[in-house]
Amino acid sequence: MLQIGDALISLDVVERNFICNLDACKGACCIEGDAGAPITEEEHTILKKLLPEVWNDLTPAAQKVIEEQGVAYVDEEGDLVTSIVNDKDCVFTCYGSDGMCMCAIEKAYREGRVSFYKPISCHLYPVRLTRYPSFTAVNYHRWKICKAAEVLGRKEGVKVYQFLREPLIRCFGEKWYDELQQTAEVYLRQKEEGTL
Ligand code: SF4
Repeated sequence: MLQIGDALISLDVVERNFICNLDACKGACCIEGDAGAPITEEEHTILKKLLPEVWNDLTPAAQKVIEEQGVAYVDEEGDLVTSIVNDKDCVFTCYGSDGMCMCAIEKAYREGRVSFYKPISCHLYPVRLTRYPSFTAVNYHRWKICKAAEVLGRKEGVKVYQFLREPLIRCFGEKWYDELQQTAEVYLRQKEEGTL
């Protein structure tokens, strides 16, 4: 475990390799799993506001779910999460002509239609944050649908925290990330030299 500020970072985040391999997974994290993506109350408000901008990109089934229960719900663990279709697909999933799953919010952002990129939990995936009163746990969520991402990350020599530089800075700031990078480099060097 490494500590930067009040964040406790699991060693998996600095030791494991990862680069999303969309050719292999087709963006499956948008449609797999048994709950939606965790969001904050603030993000919930933003999603409700930007809904008209993404509405036409959503599937009819997703539109129906949103009309019935809104863009989010509280899951079994008590977390506020995006609504899902068929007990698994995020309502904000849209599909490219090649069958690739995309986030309709990210698509609208890239097309300049909205100024919100996407919920931070999606941007940070496969890292998950858990907030406690005195610290934040930063963990790598290992999932078999991302297997090809580990293989690609290993091939390119990219660690989880390096792949997620942008969302980690969005969450914790640039200074925090620089400190993580330096601490991770020292840790990995010492591990390699057997001097830990
Ligand atoms: S997080 Fe996993 S499933 Fe999602 S795009 Fe990356 S590799 Fe694919």
